[in-house]
Amino acid sequence: MRLRNATLSASRGIFVPIRDEEGRKDEVADLVAAFNKMVAEIEKRQDQLVQSRKMASIGTFTSGIAHELNNPINNISLIVESLLEDEDLSDEERSRLYRDLLEQSERTSEIVKNLLDFSRTDHSEVEEVRLDELVEKTARLIKNELRLHHIRFSKEIREPLPSLHLDRSGFQQVLLNLFLNAVQAMEEGGELRVSLGLTRRGELRMDVRDTGKGIPLSHLDRVFDPFFTTKKEGMGTGLGLSVSYGIVKKHGGRIEVRSRPGNGACFSIFLPVEKSRERE
Ligand code: ADP
Repeated sequence: MRLRNATLSASRGIFVPIRDEEGRKDEVADLVAAFNKMVAEIEKRQDQLVQSRKMASIGTFTSGIAHELNNPINNISLIVESLLEDEDLSDEERSRLYRDLLEQSERTSEIVKNLLDFSRTDHSEVEEVRLDELVEKTARLIKNELRLHHIRFSKEIREPLPSLHLDRSGFQQVLLNLFLNAVQAMEEGGELRVSLGLTRRGELRMDVRDTGKGIPLSHLDRVFDPFFTTKKEGMGTGLGLSVSYGIVKKHGGRIEVRSRPGNGACFSIFLPVEKSRERE
């Protein structure tokens, strides 16, 4: 029975080892040990997959990050230049420039920190996370992509939201996959809308909607399959949504998709909220 439940969970992407019965030394005990070893191995592979997908997606927005860093660095040079060269500056003007300098250098370190947080390898650490903040941070990572593709980004929070116990970096990966897919589906520009709220069943619901080309009916039940991609070679690996599916599952949640060709797509994530941990 325990073995049957465990294999069922594993087939749904939840890898929980079976507890050994102490002292038991027969064929069943060997089977349990082999099962647990297999589960640990699959979990390790899954983590490696998440990490390599993460590194691949960093590649897609490196130019954006470089651009974002370039602005404050340019500003810093200009400010230092005026401080050095303009001898007529009043004390007040000087101190304003010093404050600007500080602000611009804080901006650069925030961009770098954001990137470092994202590429961290200790990804399965669970911590208290506010999903609305994570959405904001992730949108900032792809700010340049949004601008280049003429995409308007908006976020709607329907009610006060509890913070959740999440693997922050894993979830940022999920958001980034959904956002980048949306951007790639809106070649002619459009709108990327994220809304967050609670369902009557007490789950946190997040919808990521785009106004892009949409998904044909025949693809709808395949988009979460590993290696399913409709993108040109070099543009897609077909792993984004399957990795995201695994991460959401691991948190006891689910991810669904609705779409009509020509009418955009909407990915919804439902996550259980532990009542005891709700914030005001
Ligand atoms: P990849 O982006 O590498 O192709 P994914 O697993 O992220 O892999 O996505 C699989 C496929 O699902 C995409 O190739 C695309 O056909 C489809 N898809 C995903 N998100 C969207 C979206 N927002 N709009 C249209 N199609 C999408």
